[in-house]
Amino acid sequence: MFQKTRLQLTLAYLGVLSLILTLFTVAVRWNFTRSLNQQFNFRLENLAKAAAFNMDNDEGKLEADEDEIIVDRQQIIEWFDLEGKMVGEQGESELDTPLETKYLEQTQDYPNSIRSITKPVYHSETKELIGYARVSESLGELNNTLRRLDYGLGSGIAIALLASGFGSIWLTRRAMEPIEVSFERLKQFTADASHELRSPLMVIKTNADVALKYPEGIRSKDTEKFTAIASASNQMTRLTENLLLLARSDQAINLQKELVDLNLMLKELMHLYQSQAQEKNLEWQLELQPELYLLGDRILLKQVFTNLLQNALYYTPQDGSITVKAKKINSYLNIKIQDTGIGIAPENLDLIFERFWRADKSRSYQSGKSGLGLAIVKEIVTLHNGSISVESELEKGSCFSLCFLEN
Ligand code: ADP
Repeated sequence: MFQKTRLQLTLAYLGVLSLILTLFTVAVRWNFTRSLNQQFNFRLENLAKAAAFNMDNDEGKLEADEDEIIVDRQQIIEWFDLEGKMVGEQGESELDTPLETKYLEQTQDYPNSIRSITKPVYHSETKELIGYARVSESLGELNNTLRRLDYGLGSGIAIALLASGFGSIWLTRRAMEPIEVSFERLKQFTADASHELRSPLMVIKTNADVALKYPEGIRSKDTEKFTAIASASNQMTRLTENLLLLARSDQAINLQKELVDLNLMLKELMHLYQSQAQEKNLEWQLELQPELYLLGDRILLKQVFTNLLQNALYYTPQDGSITVKAKKINSYLNIKIQDTGIGIAPENLDLIFERFWRADKSRSYQSGKSGLGLAIVKEIVTLHNGSISVESELEKGSCFSLCFLEN
């Protein structure tokens, strides 16, 4: 039970941490890329200015002073006249893009793409446009730096997540420890209390029953009181037994597994409750497929069907109908208990399996209903690796469906 909570806590913690790390990485990556690009463009811009400065129109002849500027291995400078014809060059150019005065990234042989910038060149004296200077630089170095950053951030995140994974497992275990201990104590207390209550309750019940069996020994007006005592002790015995069963199922209960003949069990139960069904004039039907066997704890499985049948009987009004169906679907056994009773409101469908939950809380004492029946059913079904679901409509009826893997 706590294992699931621990796992959920660890996963939630890791989820939040990965989100924070992802946001952090994206921010770092974005900032770093922006700053690298700014530096790159600044360098290109300066180089372009220097290149433009070193070109002039000398007595009608356009000349570029190529030797005045020293370029890096990945840099290229090209000078063009107004028609776009190259008049000078520094570095090895493989660019064939048209002249433009904005940044132009030429993606050739990624990661060695090239970024260029073109500057207009004006005559030093007349200030007339005489040509263009284009400078380019390979983005290889920048891309390599970014790739190294990606690897660094990626492995950093992986290591951080792994370390926090182990850390969070340890932390959640430590945080849950006191809760688990007190939960264990509470379960033990419930189990002990229910167990200890059984004997005195049995004494009260037996004495009340004996007194009622020999009414001549008691005053006639006391009969009613003894009947009330017997009924209350019956209800309390049932309650303590249910609590004991739930407390035990919380501590890995030992199932006494055997091959249970489902058909026989359902027939016996239907027979047992037939008189109650007749009292309400209910249509009481059983639809079975032959040869339905289930490996499980006979007593506990009987408790499941008893609880469901008792509920169906209790919540179905006069002249209604209750149908029990059992069949095999592929490798599953499916048992349905269908009634035409008061039904369950859609918002309550998720609540009915909770301990002590009842739709009508006011009538519990008189009716002996404690709200533990379905919680016990769910617990036992889960212990048998089965599942239970319910479909219901108010004033129309309910259908509880059980599914077990056939053995
Ligand atoms: P209870 O002892 O109150 O019957 P259960 O755990 O068996 O406790 O059921 C919980 C609640 O689910 C009931 O109080 C009732 O409101 C609802 N319920 C269970 N079975 C049926 C049914 N067949 N038809 C209508 N409501 C039902």
